[in-house]
Amino acid sequence: MAKLIVSELNVRGRRVLVRVDFNVPMEEKDGQMVVTDTTRIKETLPTLDLLIEKGAKLILASHLGRPKGKRETSMSLRPVAAKLADMLCRPVAFADDCIGEKVEQTLQALQPGDVLLLENVRFYAEEEANDPGFSEKLANLADVYVNDAFGSAHRAHASTEGVARVIARRGGACAAGLLMERELRFLGDELEHPARPFAVILGGAKVSDKINVIDRLLEKADSILIGGAMAYTFRLAQGLKVGKSLVEPDKTEVAKSALSKAGARGVKILLPVDDIIATPTDTGKVNKKGKPVLEMQNRRANASLNLPDDGAGVDIGPATVAAYSEVIRSAKTILWNGPMGIFEDPRFAEGTIAVARAVAEATKKSGAKSIIGGGDSVKALNAAGLGDQVTFMSTGGGASLEFLEGKLLPGVAALSDR
Ligand code: AMP
Repeated sequence: MAKLIVSELNVRGRRVLVRVDFNVPMEEKDGQMVVTDTTRIKETLPTLDLLIEKGAKLILASHLGRPKGKRETSMSLRPVAAKLADMLCRPVAFADDCIGEKVEQTLQALQPGDVLLLENVRFYAEEEANDPGFSEKLANLADVYVNDAFGSAHRAHASTEGVARVIARRGGACAAGLLMERELRFLGDELEHPARPFAVILGGAKVSDKINVIDRLLEKADSILIGGAMAYTFRLAQGLKVGKSLVEPDKTEVAKSALSKAGARGVKILLPVDDIIATPTDTGKVNKKGKPVLEMQNRRANASLNLPDDGAGVDIGPATVAAYSEVIRSAKTILWNGPMGIFEDPRFAEGTIAVARAVAEATKKSGAKSIIGGGDSVKALNAAGLGDQVTFMSTGGGASLEFLEGKLLPGVAALSDR
């Protein structure tokens, strides 16, 4: 059901609690925490500017890191207030708590267009527990609620779900922010009736993480291109040799069932026809978890569907790149989630970068709508300098996967219907 959007609200002079995602990376410099990447702050600016223009009194809430219910100075949002003030070109007040009388008193001084950032909501364990009493206290701060934190919408926490329920019960509107609205439109409505052909590219580590997405997309897609380690679980299901590749042997039935469903529906599932492989070698070191650290050595191409016993598949090979690129270039709708290999290592990033290029090219040359489902695919596109050459990049990793699975996200469900 369509949700109310911030642009439809009348908020002049009203207190609006905006759930933003200011979970930004920070680093200590000269004894001070500083924000090292402002992307998430930048993404909320359209919603904040709109609310300021509409004369709302803005009260911003976010989490930062995992303080597990305790005050952690290193996870304070105070440095974000200063950064946000620079970016909004106006003062941003900071409250060193997110609930309580002191915060409520600070609110009294707010004028239309003023902005107040609350302290990290996760300094209270009640936030993640979605505690009703804590939600009531958050709701005491505002008349209206706006959620622009898509990346947290799959979690039913007090600031993403509970508080919206209380504000709605008290008669206040609960709306999607502009960023949230774009996420819902591109990952939802646009994929509901895609222009055809519709190509889905799925990669990453595990079949088990993506199987629900595959199931759902089998109803919509014309072809599904599989890469990453998950391809080797499919190969195992086909009785092929996977060497030392990362596989989930207990998920071969799931892979088989996806292949047979695709056959029955006339959806093409494409699997890699060649690979880049390497030999995992024990370095004699152990990581923080006490597990042996392996070094990938002897990078080579493998043109057979079977892998040698000592080889691990670490990227798709050149013939697969060519075949996948052709399908991508002729698609009119593209959805991409997950890298084609261990792209963090430049030796094994070629397949992922080639896919990124094909997606960008299809968008530019044939007007395809390209939607990137968050996480590592976004990182790969940005690393290849192609981030601005696709139609939409989701800001949610887990949230976008759950949304693509067709799940109703708690933070979205709690918003008012139009
Ligand atoms: P996911 O979070 O499921 O999208 O997985 C992303 C991770 O999968 C990245 O860190 C990649 O390094 C990893 N990955 C992709 N392909 C492979 C592969 N062939 N073998 C091992 N890890 C892989």
